[in-house]
Amino acid sequence: MVDYAAIVIGAGFGGLRMLYELRSLGISPVKILETGSDVGGTWYWNRYPGARTDSECFDYMFNFSDELKKEWNWPERYSTQDTVLRYLGTAADKYDMRKDIQFDTSVKSAHYNEATNKWVITTSQGDEYSCTFLISAVGPLSLGRKPPFPGLDSFRGEWYQASQWPNKSVDFTGKRVAVIGTGATGVQVIPVVSHNAKSVTVFQQTPNYVIPARNYPMTPERMHEIKRGYDESWQKVRTQAWGAGNTWGHFNYSDVKDDKELQHKILERGWELGGFRGFIFDTFNDMFSDMDSNDAVCEFIRQKIHAIVKDEKTAELLCPHYPLLSKRPPLGHFYYETFNKSHVKLVSVRDNPIKEITPAGLRTNTDEYEFDVIIFAIGFDAVTGALNAIDIRGPTNQSLAEAWSTKVDTMLGITVAGFPNMFIISGPHSPFATIPVIIDNTVNWIGQAITHMQKNGLKSLEATPKASDAWRETVLAAFNKTILPVSAEKVNSWYVGANVPGKTHDVLFYFGGMPSYFSACQDEADAGFPGFKSVPL
Ligand code: NAP
Repeated sequence: MVDYAAIVIGAGFGGLRMLYELRSLGISPVKILETGSDVGGTWYWNRYPGARTDSECFDYMFNFSDELKKEWNWPERYSTQDTVLRYLGTAADKYDMRKDIQFDTSVKSAHYNEATNKWVITTSQGDEYSCTFLISAVGPLSLGRKPPFPGLDSFRGEWYQASQWPNKSVDFTGKRVAVIGTGATGVQVIPVVSHNAKSVTVFQQTPNYVIPARNYPMTPERMHEIKRGYDESWQKVRTQAWGAGNTWGHFNYSDVKDDKELQHKILERGWELGGFRGFIFDTFNDMFSDMDSNDAVCEFIRQKIHAIVKDEKTAELLCPHYPLLSKRPPLGHFYYETFNKSHVKLVSVRDNPIKEITPAGLRTNTDEYEFDVIIFAIGFDAVTGALNAIDIRGPTNQSLAEAWSTKVDTMLGITVAGFPNMFIISGPHSPFATIPVIIDNTVNWIGQAITHMQKNGLKSLEATPKASDAWRETVLAAFNKTILPVSAEKVNSWYVGANVPGKTHDVLFYFGGMPSYFSACQDEADAGFPGFKSVPL
């Protein structure tokens, strides 16, 4: 059995960044095992029409390479899926990473052998490897939900699961297309598919608050400015609660609650600037914790929907009536405007669910529809799903899925009591924020933990249950300070596992903001990892 110092699962943003860190620390040999045939992770699989980032390009990137920052030019404010994939491929080539990646290989199991202090890994290719450090970079949104509808096999048309889109172009010209799901994925798919399709029928269960993205192409001057400001903007990113840099300044609703005109001006400006930065982070600072603030923003969006969508009934169906941010709001590229096209129809399945897929289309309780193409944009078994799908077992033979079956416990979202020498990038209870920024911090922290072990002659490091419980308490306390306890479960939010039938409902993120999270991580490392037990060599 080939033995590695570290095995990393996944070659997306997290895996590539981890490989770079391990190499910088002289940890060798290292291998990444990747299900896809190339690097990219979520950006490899999610090739659906309209796929692009909802974070701005200058936040959604690697910070580790000054050369890459100098050389790479972002074409648009929000990068398309193929741009991100090219970017990750360029990084992988520049640092000759592919030689350490085994593609087309899924990890089936990882069992810890206490006698050798090694993880033993088996793969879909039938390989068996051992390693000292097991590092998951499977990503929080990588296990797409399979269409749960009976009758799918009988469908005579084409169907696609957005999160597993084939690597080929799909022509919708002249076709009758159904899109099921109106989360961030559906919201990106619908306008693009409507360009050529004969008809688009959107099946909506819960409406979302869709914020206008306001994309624009990057001019050489703007790109030059971004390159000059990278260091400063990364510092800002690390100090902003959600990991979005270059915010323009914001207000508390409570300070302006008696001035309706000023409130409107603030929200109108945010709406025009667009994106999370313009409309969420730079409007009312307290909308995530103060229900009055949240209500004011929701009402503003509902008015916008009614102003944009001409058909009154469709506009009302598109209006959410729950607190904004209870679900992750999508960014739209002319989403609401798309419903003004005569060949685009909205069907609410909230009280009349899809019963089955038929040979010709689909059927709700009361109606039958015929389609040539069905697109399922029904989301992910988020955060814990992809990890639980691997048979990961610690020294007691308890699996990770069993350990998390009633409640999720981690230390800082990175390690789990009972699973020594295992690290998770973007694990449960890490912050809800721009993912590459969290990845950068986590990878750096894992590097510090491994260095600590090497310096102190330790063969294993494992979070204590006490420290994990304390982190869980911190996570729950942060959650309880937001508007989420009121509504996240009710609206099927994946933040709490409520979007997957049968999944344990639990808080899956730290909602206390990145700066306090970064401090907690650094304090733990600086204090010599007091929340961990270790075994000397
Ligand atoms: P999602 O937000 O979970 O949305 C899934 C949609 O499918 C929801 O509208 C859901 O309705 C609907 N649905 C589920 N089961 C259904 C059923 N049986 N019948 C009808 N509708 C059903 O998933 P997603 O859109 O893939 O997005 C997940 C996350 O991925 C996003 O929140 C975001 O963080 C990330 N993402 C990011 C980007 C980006 O940054 N550009 C793009 C796409 C996705 P309910 O709401 O009622 O459950």
